[in-house]
Amino acid sequence: VIQVRNLHKTYNGIDVLKGVNFEVDKGQVKAVLGPSGSGKSTMLRLMALLEPADAGELILKGRRVGAREERGRTVHLPERQLAVQRREVGMVFQRFNLFPHLTAARNVMLGLTSVQGVSHHEARERSLAMLERVGLAERAEHYPSELSGGQQQRVAIARALVMNPSVMLFDEPTSALDPELVGEVLDVMESLAESGMTMIVVTHEVRFARRVADEVTLFDGGVIVEQAAPEEFFTSPQHERTRRFLSHVH
Ligand code: ATP
Ligand code: MG
Repeated sequence: VIQVRNLHKTYNGIDVLKGVNFEVDKGQVKAVLGPSGSGKSTMLRLMALLEPADAGELILKGRRVGAREERGRTVHLPERQLAVQRREVGMVFQRFNLFPHLTAARNVMLGLTSVQGVSHHEARERSLAMLERVGLAERAEHYPSELSGGQQQRVAIARALVMNPSVMLFDEPTSALDPELVGEVLDVMESLAESGMTMIVVTHEVRFARRVADEVTLFDGGVIVEQAAPEEFFTSPQHERTRRFLSHVH
């Protein structure tokens, strides 16, 4: 459903992404591991169309997104078109970024009413259904400050899901959480995976990657070092770099 071709990104003359290639089929879950600074978040931001790539292509459901070719040159799309394409991609960050002055239900509704022009009534129904799906039906009228970190992150997942994206991107969704709250968020993500959602998950949760992912990727220095099924990735990695990385996280 999503293809990344030869993606490049440079910040201040530093190559952060140096030609990233992969694809994720519909309903597949890809876990991305890698050291700090290797470009994982940058790759997700580019895939979410939050920033333009310097080179390369993103293809979503068979169509190029973010840019197009015009007389042999790459032209980045104007904001108005990007906004439409972004709806296809749900993103969940390490920090939940909920609006503090809005209830859980209002936070989830906002994208529907303000971006998609859905009626208040329908937006509310859909938001409550989504909060129920992440186990928070009883918390709909609570403000973020009245919710635990794990609950806030589940609201953030509901907020992304309610837009009905084709793919969900997660950037270390549990690394800001107290250890005892990690499990409830991973459980929601696992059930989402089981429901057939296409997901790319940057994570340090090796056990989650092993159990839920269809494919595990090691990212280092702006390139993909290794890409394999979990069993193979964790038990017989092909690259010395992967073995070294795994020796640190186990
Ligand atoms: P972490 O595991 O710590 O989250 P990461 O793999 O997500 O790391 P990125 O956040 O993608 O890594 O950063 C990769 C490199 O790009 C880093 O050296 C970072 O300093 C640099 N970088 C990222 N975003 C920007 C930016 N907006 N401007 C300048 N440099 C940036
Ligand atoms: Mg990051």
